Amino acid sequence: MTYPFSTPNRVTKYEVIEEVPRRAMVIFAHPDDAEIGAGATAALWAANGTEITYVQCTTGSSGSNDLAMISDRIVEIRATEQRAAADAIGVGDIVVLDHPDGELDADRVFLGEIVRVLRKYRPEVVFTHDQNRTNGFQHRDHRSVGITVQDAIYPYARDHLHFPEQLTGGIEPYKVKHLFYWGTDQADVIVDVTDSVDTKIKALAQHKSQIPGLSFGSDMDLRMRAHHADAAKGYGFEYGEAFRRLTART
Ligand SMILES: [Zn+2]
Repeated sequence: MTYPFSTPNRVTKYEVIEEVPRRAMVIFAHPDDAEIGAGATAALWAANGTEITYVQCTTGSSGSNDLAMISDRIVEIRATEQRAAADAIGVGDIVVLDHPDGELDADRVFLGEIVRVLRKYRPEVVFTHDQNRTNGFQHRDHRSVGITVQDAIYPYARDHLHFPEQLTGGIEPYKVKHLFYWGTDQADVIVDVTDSVDTKIKALAQHKSQIPGLSFGSDMDLRMRAHHADAAKGYGFEYGEAFRRLTART
């Protein structure tokens, strides 16, 4: 007989995701956001055969505190860093949308661009910024990406009467199965990233212009590991990456 008090004190809140999709996409505002948000899960899945595509929505043209830096130069530096980070993760294509950093509007042009990449690459899972996070400031570009990705998945990419001009040359309407938000205060799923947290750190270390001094054993490395270890507490693995998930109705 089971008594109610026989349940363990520690109740696990999040569903542990073990399924590995065939195709996934990470849609992010600036170079380095993808690795910060979903780098360990993307690395784990890439190592298990998932085809991962990055969609970088701005050029990252404002990402410098160096007063002598000019936008064209920082864009070039960050593009090189982002490709090196993506290589470390195991990402295939990086689609770069040409919006200036800090000027991303959740408008119809941007929506159409996201709908087009979803219909072209057909990812089962999409990762992006959580536009609904309420604890703390969040970059406007991040919020614009979050809301646009949610709209693009449902209903715009799915329904043939939205952006019908895209439906030529083999491009068809497409329904994404799951949307995973990072940077969320309402996480409900978690991935065991014990085997890939090193790869996440290694990939992030490629963004030298943004995250100088990151290397194995550095303070920042230890802080990131502590964050992932904290997320994993109570789940029976060492490091976890948590997300808020939206799932499309079948
Ligand atoms: Zn960003």
